[in-house]
Amino acid sequence: MRAPLAIAVIICAGSLLSLPPFSSLAAEGYRLLELEGGKVKWGEQRLGTGASISYAFADEPLAFAKARNCGELAPVEKLLGNNISRQTLVRETAAAFRVWERVAGLSFHQVSHTQDADIIFGAQGKPEGRAFANVSYEPDASEGIRTIKQALLCLNPEHKWKVGFDGDVDVYDLRYTLIHEIGHALGLDHPGRSGQVMAFRYTEAFDDLQPGDLLGIQILYGQASEAQLANSRVTQISEMQEAGYQADHSNDNAVENVEEDKINSGMAFSDSASYTGKLGSGPE
Ligand SMILES: [Zn+2]
Repeated sequence: MRAPLAIAVIICAGSLLSLPPFSSLAAEGYRLLELEGGKVKWGEQRLGTGASISYAFADEPLAFAKARNCGELAPVEKLLGNNISRQTLVRETAAAFRVWERVAGLSFHQVSHTQDADIIFGAQGKPEGRAFANVSYEPDASEGIRTIKQALLCLNPEHKWKVGFDGDVDVYDLRYTLIHEIGHALGLDHPGRSGQVMAFRYTEAFDDLQPGDLLGIQILYGQASEAQLANSRVTQISEMQEAGYQADHSNDNAVENVEEDKINSGMAFSDSASYTGKLGSGPE
């Protein structure tokens, strides 16, 4: 009998103040998730190999008993409001996936039903912090790598969300937050406090992947192929045409959030003391 799936969880872009024990970035600007002493990725258990990954929006309440975070997902409808329509949410989510797709051996496609999806995105059923990711993976490691089986992304519906940067770092940009959370769902960890999209502090200093982010994702999945790039461009154009795309990411003020975000890791993280923030049942 196989061991139950191990669950690892990362909270990102949380709102609680927690001072990190270190303040510099990992030297290379990236850090791969290490869970139970191994790396995790989608697809083959070999670094530098690509993967095709599906995602779906939660349109009904879903429960994941073993998930430490995002264990209760509410419909994404809960995230809609003033300036976020369903169409905007769908568009920004697709754009966030595209950001990773165009730089690595990854392809993402939306599916209608969550039971068919590798990654499920919903609102938090029990709102806390800002945004969370949950990664569950197969127990068997090959060359120190485990296959991710499912990932959950959840955002707090009690916080306001926005599209584009406006210098107000208390209201998080939906796309930027999703790019970061998806990075976790793909097997990346926080390299440090700032300077990369995968850094744990929300800033509006840049709206695209930074050198460390690129390095990390390409170590896991290799570089994007020409075919992928062409496909990604076509998809992007049709999305823009459909949605009359006009997100405002023009105001790139280098405003940093004074708040540190909280990192909450699952049990598989509890031996990883180099983390900032709350480590589940591990060290603070
Ligand atoms: Zn994070």
